[in-house]
Amino acid sequence: MAQHTPQRTTEHNTTVAIVGAGMAGLIAARALHRQGIDVRVLESADRVGGRMMAETSALGSRLDLGGQWVGHSHHRFSALAAELGATVFAMHTPKRPGIVHDGHPVPVLSAATAAAGAALLAVELRAKLRVPERWKSTTVADWLHKVPSATARRLLEVFVEVSTTADLDRFTMSAFAAMVRYQGGLSTMLSTKGGAQDRLIVEGAGTLTDKLAAGLGSRVLTNSPVTAIHRGDRGVVVQSPSTVVRASKVIICLPPPMLATITFDPPLPPARARLVDETCMGSVYKAIAVYDQPFWRATVDAEFVLLDSPGGAVFDTSPPDGPGHLCVLIGGREARTLDLLDESARRQAVIGALATAVGSPSILEPRSWHEKSWQLDEHVGGGYSALPTVAHTGGFFPLPSDPTDSTLYWAGTETASEHAGYIEGAIESGERAARQVIGTLPPQHPGS
Ligand SMILES: Cc1cc2nc3c(=O)[nH]c(=O)nc-3n(C[C@H](O)[C@H](O)[C@H](O)COP(=O)(O)OP(=O)(O)OC[C@H]3O[C@@H](n4cnc5c(N)ncnc54)[C@H](O)[C@@H]3O)c2cc1C
Repeated sequence: MAQHTPQRTTEHNTTVAIVGAGMAGLIAARALHRQGIDVRVLESADRVGGRMMAETSALGSRLDLGGQWVGHSHHRFSALAAELGATVFAMHTPKRPGIVHDGHPVPVLSAATAAAGAALLAVELRAKLRVPERWKSTTVADWLHKVPSATARRLLEVFVEVSTTADLDRFTMSAFAAMVRYQGGLSTMLSTKGGAQDRLIVEGAGTLTDKLAAGLGSRVLTNSPVTAIHRGDRGVVVQSPSTVVRASKVIICLPPPMLATITFDPPLPPARARLVDETCMGSVYKAIAVYDQPFWRATVDAEFVLLDSPGGAVFDTSPPDGPGHLCVLIGGREARTLDLLDESARRQAVIGALATAVGSPSILEPRSWHEKSWQLDEHVGGGYSALPTVAHTGGFFPLPSDPTDSTLYWAGTETASEHAGYIEGAIESGERAARQVIGTLPPQHPGS
């Protein structure tokens, strides 16, 4: 008869417990550790990095299945990459992406693209000046019904899905407008050169979180999903099935909907607890196809908006002098339809349209194929970031970062005051939470 072996629980006493070993948690841990403050980072997954995840292709090149681009104004991210010895390069990008519809290239300058551009400009203008009250209850899907041309509608649908990862019938126009305003306008949000998709990292952005964790050594405890946090007179007890950590302070660095996985005793204040209902994670599927070289460049720039089903965006993310990498992003409901297919059907659905776009069947035979459906990741719940849910008026960036009871501190990209949703925001939030905690502790001896 099989014997039930109870799981062994390890106990740690520390000064600061950090929940979540994504970029925000690791940056906070490093900042505290550098000040000589003892830390433990509890991470639910068997790896660190959260929404950042680098892999090695069959040809030895590195690629990212999670966050990858260094935005033009993402100074903290650039500085961290330089500090950790990573090589940043400008992505190969044309002036405008090509458009593929019904298996054929669509002229980039047409009545449909003009109509889509005009509709987006109108949103941007309203986002800057005054968002109509009715947009609080108008979903993006409702708004799209009023766009006259079917191609323009489809173009807008794919643009919004890829840039926000939202389900368009569950994402209000006021949430979309708020995102456009907050991210500094559509041009910054959607642009490659000079925008949020400016540069890439040869070694993979995920290498940075791996390196941060390596620097913290055994202070990072993977396979430790936090299930309960008790606050009492003698500090805080952070519990996971395998680990109990006693600390003076805790920094929580989770995507806000994941707070639902933790029981708080005493309960969180209502404004904080509400975030679980006021936010949801977007759905995003990302794939990278790797080829011996970026052979398509001889005839075409491989940056496209695909309007076929599933619709998505394609980028030439090949490293300089390296093999060819094509990166495909599919957002929102269309990302989830792919989860129903088996791997080979999914791959065909994703790169089938590329054969037409690039004009070569060789595109269907990558040397290696890498994919991830982030909505299926039980540890982060989706990506790129948390979105406001349709039934609520809260959940907009930046989410609150004020400490709770002077014991719980809050980080994670969603709480950043600048570039929330991006890696830059995760770094900013981790640095800020560490500063908040350091300000409350007696002076330490760095390096001790
Ligand atoms: C496909 C995709 C593409 C993206 N592209 C870009 C890009 O190009 N550029 C960019 O700047 N940003 C991009 N982003 C966003 C960027 O990756 C995130 O903003 C950033 O990584 C978030 O870091 P974080 O530390 O705030 O959160 P996370 O990375 O989500 O870290 C949270 C951690 O908490 C852990 N956790 C969850 N629950 C528990 C629990 N109960 N106990 C313990 N641990 C727990 C999770 O496993 C995770 O490791 C992308 C994201 C995705 C998914």
